[in-house]
Amino acid sequence: MNGPTQLLIGGKFQDAQSGRTFPTINPATEKVIAHVAEADAADIDAAVKAARTAFSRHWRRMEARERAKLLWRIGDLIMQNADELGALETMDNGKPIFESRYIDIPSAAETFYYYSGWCTKIEGETIPVPGDFFNYTLREPYGVCGIITPWNFPLLMVAWKLAPALACGNTAVVKIAEETPLTGLRLGQLCQEAGLPDGVVNVVPGFGETAGRALVAHPHVEKISFTGSTAVGKEIMRTAADSLKKVSLELGGKSPNIVFADSDLDAAAKGAFNAIFYGKGEVCNAGSRLFVEKEIHDDLLEKLVQRAARLTPGDPMDPKTRLGALVSKTQMDRVLDYVETGKREGAVPILPGGRAGTRGYFVKPTIFDSADQSMKIAQEEIFGPVLTVLTFETTDELVEKANSTIYGLAAAVWTRDIAKAHRLAGELQAGTVWINAYNMLSPQSPFGGYKQSGYGRELGRHGIDLYTQVKSVWVSLA
Ligand code: NAD
Repeated sequence: MNGPTQLLIGGKFQDAQSGRTFPTINPATEKVIAHVAEADAADIDAAVKAARTAFSRHWRRMEARERAKLLWRIGDLIMQNADELGALETMDNGKPIFESRYIDIPSAAETFYYYSGWCTKIEGETIPVPGDFFNYTLREPYGVCGIITPWNFPLLMVAWKLAPALACGNTAVVKIAEETPLTGLRLGQLCQEAGLPDGVVNVVPGFGETAGRALVAHPHVEKISFTGSTAVGKEIMRTAADSLKKVSLELGGKSPNIVFADSDLDAAAKGAFNAIFYGKGEVCNAGSRLFVEKEIHDDLLEKLVQRAARLTPGDPMDPKTRLGALVSKTQMDRVLDYVETGKREGAVPILPGGRAGTRGYFVKPTIFDSADQSMKIAQEEIFGPVLTVLTFETTDELVEKANSTIYGLAAAVWTRDIAKAHRLAGELQAGTVWINAYNMLSPQSPFGGYKQSGYGRELGRHGIDLYTQVKSVWVSLA
C-alpha cells in the first residue's frame, strides 16, 4: 500500500495533532492494510482555516476557465491512476475489482469532467423590476464546504460532492468514512498533483462523533453536504441548526422494484438480481423490496433464484468475482441479524444466505419470499445482499404499499405498458424512477431522496444549486 495515510491540510500531508491513528482493514482478509491518521476537532479547525484562506486568496479569484482546466486534469489523473485506485477501493471496501475499476473509478472521473464544463457556465439573471432600477442576480459560492461521505462508494461519493463544490468556486474539507479512507486520501494527493492551490481541498479521515461532528459545528464552514444513514443525517441537522448552516443530505432507502405480469420476465429477473446484489446490496438505492404481480410470482422467482443461487462470494481482487465481502464485521453482523429477524417474522427464506467461510466478511445472497408489509425486513434498510419479496394484485394496492416506508430514494417499474409505466413514475414517492431498468446514474441527471431519504438534489444542474447562493443586486438608474 503506497498511497497516503496522513491528513491532507493546506497542501501538506501530516500527522494528526494528537498523533493518533486508526487501522483500516481489508474485509476480505480481515488484515490491517494501513494505519491512518485520525483527525479530531483540532485538525478540523486547522483544515477549515486552510480552506478559508485558500478560498479568499486563490480559489474565488481564479478565472473560471482556469478552474475548469484543473477539474478536467483531476478527471484525467483519476483515469491515469484507475488501476491503483480500483485496487485500493477493493482492498478497503471489499467490493469486486470489476465494480471499482470499471464503474466507481471511471464514474468519479466522469463527474469531474462533467463539472469542469460547468465552471464557465454559472450565470445570474437580469430581472425586469418595476421603477427606475436595474436588478440582477449573482450566483456565488458559499466559501468552505464540509463534505462527509460513507463507505459504500468511497471515492465516487467524494467526487459527487467535491467536483460541483469546486466548480462553483468553493473550497472543501472532506471527512471521509473511517472504514474506507484510502481512495479519498489518494484523491487529495491527485488534486495537489493537478495543481490546485494548497488548501482548496483538505482531506481529513476520522470518526463521525469527533471529526464529523466538529466539521458540522465549525462556525466557518458555510455548508455541509452529507451522504450516509438517515439517523446520522438527522443528527447532522440538529448540530447544524446552531449555526444555521446550509445542509444537503443523501440518506438511506428501501427502494421498491416492481414487476408487472406484462413485463419481459427475463429482463425483469436480471434487473431484480442486479438491483439487490450489485455492490453487495450495500447501495443506498438498492432494490431491496421486490414487488411481484401475483400471476407471475412463481415464474419470476424461479428465474431470479436460479441466478442468485449461482452468485457465490469470492476474492474481490479476482476480475471474475461479482459478490465481494461486506465492508466490516459490524456490517456483516447487522445483515446476518436481519436475516434471523426475517425468519423469526415468518418470511420464507427461499435462498437462505448466511455467512460464507470463516475468514473475511462474506455473506451469501438471501431471498425472503411471502413477506408482509409490516415486517422489519420490509421496512428497514438492511444494506446487504438480502431481498424481500412482496406480492400484489392491483395497482392501487401496489402504490400504497410501495410508498409506505419512511424512505423515498428510488423505485423501478418493469412493464411493457408505457402508459402504466409513466403513470406509476408520477405516483411513486421516490427521487429517481427507472422504467425497465435499474441502477442507471449519470453525473448529468439529478439524484436525491423524497421523504426521509434526504433533501437537495446532487448531480446535473441541480448540483450547482447546492453549492451556490444567490445575491440580488439593485442599481438605481435615476
Ligand atoms: P453513517 O451515517 O454511519 O456514516 C456516514 C458518514 O458520517 C461517515 O463519514 C461517518 O463518520 C459520519 N458521521 C457519523 N456520525 C456523525 C456525526 N454525528 N456527525 C457528523 N458526521 C458523522 O453511514 P454509513 O454506515 O457510512 O453508510 C451507509 C448509509 O449511507 C446507508 O444508510 C446508505 O443508504 C447511505 N447512503 C446513501 C446514499 C445516497 O446517495 N442517498 C449513498 C450512499 C450511502
